[in-house]
Order: sequence, then structure tokens, then C-alpha cells
Amino acid sequence: MGCKIETVCASRGMPTLPDRLVDRRVDAGDSLRDLERFFNREVLAAAMRDAGMELLEGEAENVHRLLTDEDVSDAARTEARDRLRRAGVDVDAVRDDFVTYGTVRTHLRECAGVETGRESSVDAASVRDTAFGLFGRAEAITEREVSRLAETESFDAGDVTVSLTARVTCETCGEEYGLLRLLDRGGCGCRRED
Ligand SMILES: [Zn+2]
Ligand SMILES: [Zn+2]
Repeated sequence: MGCKIETVCASRGMPTLPDRLVDRRVDAGDSLRDLERFFNREVLAAAMRDAGMELLEGEAENVHRLLTDEDVSDAARTEARDRLRRAGVDVDAVRDDFVTYGTVRTHLRECAGVETGRESSVDAASVRDTAFGLFGRAEAITEREVSRLAETESFDAGDVTVSLTARVTCETCGEEYGLLRLLDRGGCGCRRED
């Protein structure tokens, strides 16, 4: 008997997925959270395809987000569930087959013999919090300094508002993103083949 990952892959006809998790960990250095998301999206995509749904680019990713993301409204989540159900997808069974990053870690360590070490706690949410905390402080300080300047004779301005945005360029493919958008979409994706 394998772990949950192997059981789910066997029952859903995804025989190569357990090894692909290992490859992503070893070759691309994906975090356990990345792998959790990747695995669960694959499970969802398999269930949708099995029900005869045609998957557009990024669709499984989007539906997965609608089903699991804390920031999604109840209405949007219900709508996504209803749409899947109407198409013949057993949504509860899919959700039961989702794994946690702990399960991914156990699979890597005990089934595949990959040392997972200490996982740093960085994820998209923590990066967003760090960056926007910094931006907020930088905006406040810049605003204050410009306002001080506006009180001098040599510079004229009304009340000012400063807003910072971060552009992130992937040097591998040259694609440029707003930081939030890049975090939301789970990275650039240009190094992934599928
Ligand atoms: Zn396993
Ligand atoms: Zn890229």
C-alpha cells in the first residue's frame, strides 16, 4: 500500500504524478506548498477531464483557487462547485483527494527517499505581507518628506499621496508582472513544461 498520494494517483489514472512531484522538488526546488497546490490542481484537472469537461489554459488552476482560496467569496465558491456538479464532477470526492503539504512531505521522504530538510516558511502570502508592509512604510515616509518640502519656499505642492508599485521581471523569459499578479498566479511558469 502506498501513501495517499499514490492511492489517489492510482485511482485517478495519474501514474506518473508521484514521480513528477519528486522531479519538481529535486530539479526545480519547488516548496512543499508549491507541490501541494500542483498536486491538487492535477487531481482537479483529472476529475474535470474525466467528467468530459474541456479544460482551457489555466482553468484547473482558476477553479482550484475558487474552491480553496480563503479570499474567494462564498458566492463565487458556490458557483464554481455548482458548475462542476452540473458537469458531473463529484466535488466532495475531489476535495477528499486533495492533499496537504504534510502529505507531500511524507511522500517525498518515505516513498521517494527525498530529504525534505527544514522547510522555510516563505509563501506568496508572506512575501505579499512583507513587501506591502515595506511599501506602506516607504509611502508614509516619502509622503511626509514631500509634505515637509512643500512647506519650504523652493517647492510648491498641495497635499500629496505617494503610492509604490513593484514590477517584477522574470529574467529567464523577460515577462514583466505586477508583484501582486505574479504572486497570485503562482509565479511566471516559464520553466514549467506542462
Ligand atoms: Zn507516497
Ligand atoms: Zn519567466
